[in-house]
Amino acid sequence: MNIPNVDFAIIGGSGTLSSNFPKNFADVEILEENLFFDTPYGKSPAFRLCSVDGKKFLTCKMHGWRSGVTRADSSRQIFWTFRKAGIKRILSEGGVGTINHLLNPRDLMIPDDYLDMSTRKDVQLDGKYLLIMREALCPELRKKLLTAAKKFFNGRIFERGIYAVTDGRHFESPAEIAMIKGHADIVGQSLAPEVYLAREIGACYANLSFVVNYGEGIRVWSHEVMKNIFFDDAQLIGNILLDVIKNTAADKKSCQCLSLRKETLLKEIYD
Ligand SMILES: [Zn+2]
Repeated sequence: MNIPNVDFAIIGGSGTLSSNFPKNFADVEILEENLFFDTPYGKSPAFRLCSVDGKKFLTCKMHGWRSGVTRADSSRQIFWTFRKAGIKRILSEGGVGTINHLLNPRDLMIPDDYLDMSTRKDVQLDGKYLLIMREALCPELRKKLLTAAKKFFNGRIFERGIYAVTDGRHFESPAEIAMIKGHADIVGQSLAPEVYLAREIGACYANLSFVVNYGEGIRVWSHEVMKNIFFDDAQLIGNILLDVIKNTAADKKSCQCLSLRKETLLKEIYD
């Protein structure tokens, strides 16, 4: 299967899963479905090739996570494919828990930094680059996400915040949340290694997080509320992501993302 040339990608998470994104979204044309690609890390998850306002994008569900495949491999399969496709701009989304006391379920956050507490290994493709993780969440894409979020959402939108990444699948213990407190605002499981892999392939990457529960020990939370958000907000999250693609140029970048990837000085190891 030949990998198509595409500028944009959306890595779906729990926010869009229940909507069968991007089917039934206005202005979206599904060009191809069930695209699987052979990668050095195993067969890729299913991609959809879609178009919105004439702009093509690839999308996959739930960060590519499947049973029997490690999350590290899922991410590498996705980003290996993105590199081959020439993807320049990547958006991801997902539900998160709170660490910051001020946050509530249904708040939106566009994180501007992260704290990787995961212990996942093999989070690179081939290590040819030194990856400087300054402004790792693309400032230009974040601004576009904020503008789009304001168009579709009347609730609270936080335009910066620190995303702590844990391994999962389980949520965090009260002691873990207490330890992270003061260091991050939200907690989730998908931002890393995606953020590293995006930098490695020279693409811009930004994330739209929405709060689905309180961190353990912060406040008591309800599974019912989480379930309602999962089903109710899928259209909203999808609309915001699509609006960003509509209003973002693939090539005219004002950000520094690409220049923060340098040739490695450790050539002997990786050549
Ligand atoms: Zn960028």
